[in-house]
Amino acid sequence: MAEDIVDILQSFNLSNKELQVTEMGSEELSLGIKECQSSLLGKIVGEKIANYTGVKNFVTAAWGYPRDLTVAELGPNLFQFIVPKDEDRDRIAQGGPWILDNQLLVLNRWYEGIEDDEKAFNLAPLWVQVWNLPVHYISKKVGKKIGSVFHLVRDVIIPQTGGKEGRHLKLAALVDITQPLLRGTTIEVAGVAKWVQFKYERCPNFCYRCGRIGHSERSCGMGVSGREGVVFNPQRSHWSYQNGEWIEKECPGTQVHGGSRGVEEECERETVLELGGS
Ligand SMILES: [Zn+2]
Repeated sequence: MAEDIVDILQSFNLSNKELQVTEMGSEELSLGIKECQSSLLGKIVGEKIANYTGVKNFVTAAWGYPRDLTVAELGPNLFQFIVPKDEDRDRIAQGGPWILDNQLLVLNRWYEGIEDDEKAFNLAPLWVQVWNLPVHYISKKVGKKIGSVFHLVRDVIIPQTGGKEGRHLKLAALVDITQPLLRGTTIEVAGVAKWVQFKYERCPNFCYRCGRIGHSERSCGMGVSGREGVVFNPQRSHWSYQNGEWIEKECPGTQVHGGSRGVEEECERETVLELGGS
């Protein structure tokens, strides 16, 4: 910003009025701050630029018609939602995931400087199913512990019905979306390691090459050769949407583009958790 001003001053002969510096005090800013304090900012993470009306219609219905909601567009895929009622705002901030046209709408409460804070929209809620658990592991405590590989677990849900694939746990997890989606994790019980698999419910579009949300393989920065090869192993992680959920399929036709083992080890966060004992 300071450089911009220097550039402007160098390229123009400014008049006295233009050179005048107007100071902003708390009195002038208080109204704006008050309004912003009752707002949430939302970033749509994805390559498609959402239009204002589409976003407004979506949030109005998805958030249950909050009273006096107003929506302002702050830039491409960046919106401000003024939600005057505290209860509505808390409920929305604690809810989600909000998925609009297969893209994730990531919310955060307003704070001064949020527009310029690169990390403001790094955490998003996602529903994570945990599969391949022995039946006696189906408990909230186990879910909470397995969920420690995510930023935070808000809740653990135990679906009461098991289908042909058996039973699973469901985590309402806060996920760091700058990192590849975790495909699973390893738990250890009495010295024996076991792989548990994660499936993401209503998962927004993500990159099959690197496993991150928000871009496609075509614009993936991971490249296609050498050390920057495929890290989201397509042999194990071809996903398709069937019967209302993402399922992982064997995909033998897909080649791993020269991905070296080193990259896989760096990117694959396999965390071994100790269960049992205490
Ligand atoms: Zn990618």
